[in-house]
Amino acid sequence: MDYPGNLIVVAAPSGAGKSSLVKALLELDSKVQPSVSHTTRAPRGQENHGREYFFTSQEEFDAMVKAGAFLEWAEVHGNRYGTSKKAIEDRIAQGADVVLEIDFQGAIQIKQIFANAVLIFILPPSWEELRSRLERRGEDSPEVIELRLKNAAVEMAQASKFDFVIINELFDRAVFDLKAIVHAQRLKFSAQRRARSDTFKSLNIG
Ligand code: GDP
Ligand code: ADP
Ligand code: 5GP
Repeated sequence: MDYPGNLIVVAAPSGAGKSSLVKALLELDSKVQPSVSHTTRAPRGQENHGREYFFTSQEEFDAMVKAGAFLEWAEVHGNRYGTSKKAIEDRIAQGADVVLEIDFQGAIQIKQIFANAVLIFILPPSWEELRSRLERRGEDSPEVIELRLKNAAVEMAQASKFDFVIINELFDRAVFDLKAIVHAQRLKFSAQRRARSDTFKSLNIG
């Protein structure tokens, strides 16, 4: 499937800075839109239904799985998360670039459906820093933090399946790297030919 918009898939172990980086990208680039996932996890303090996630009961989630409403879904840290077709298909068809913050299992499923999707893995600079970011964020209990750190080793072992890796050490540098990847997608031959069809025609480039 060849759509005018790009799919940008960002995965990372919890606490690596994925949400902060994606938030910064969305603020800097109005052509990029977020895909809002469904989850069975309970909302955290500041989270709003429809903004960070569509918070969904187990029954609603089951019904959506049955109805084939998800492009991908996966169980992560004991909760289920899924990307609905509605969250992305119309928008990439209309030329928007859509960014998905999903786990590695979902990222690999998306790449199988959309071969042009670009997969980006965010790494923390060290284990110590990953732990201290999870503790500083203050959103998860000590037990949940331990589970997320244990899962981080399994997740990071999947980084080689991704197209790009960003090490989120200096935040502004990591935002720059993320922007550079998004920008490069727009310079691909097929994207340029579509966006600049008049120029291509006048130069007789097929
Ligand atoms: P955080 O990553 O620590 O902020 O915690 P969350 O509870 O927001 O997310 C937990 C994990 O679920 C992360 O690895 C997310 O990338 C992943 N996730 C979120 N939405 C989706 C989704 O729609 N599909 C899949 N497969 N994973 C998702
Ligand atoms: P994720 O979405 O990957 O779980 P967050 O974006 O919530 O991660 O980031 C985890 C914590 O680390 C947050 O408190 C965030 O402010 C902080 N953080 C993110 N990037 C950096 C960075 N480069 N340096 C220091 N702290 C960071
Ligand atoms: P949150 O933790 O809610 O995802 O991030 C809050 C805000 O802090 C985001 O807008 C993000 O841009 C910013 N931020 C998070 N970590 C850093 C950092 O280490 N350096 C800078 N400059 N900004 C950060």
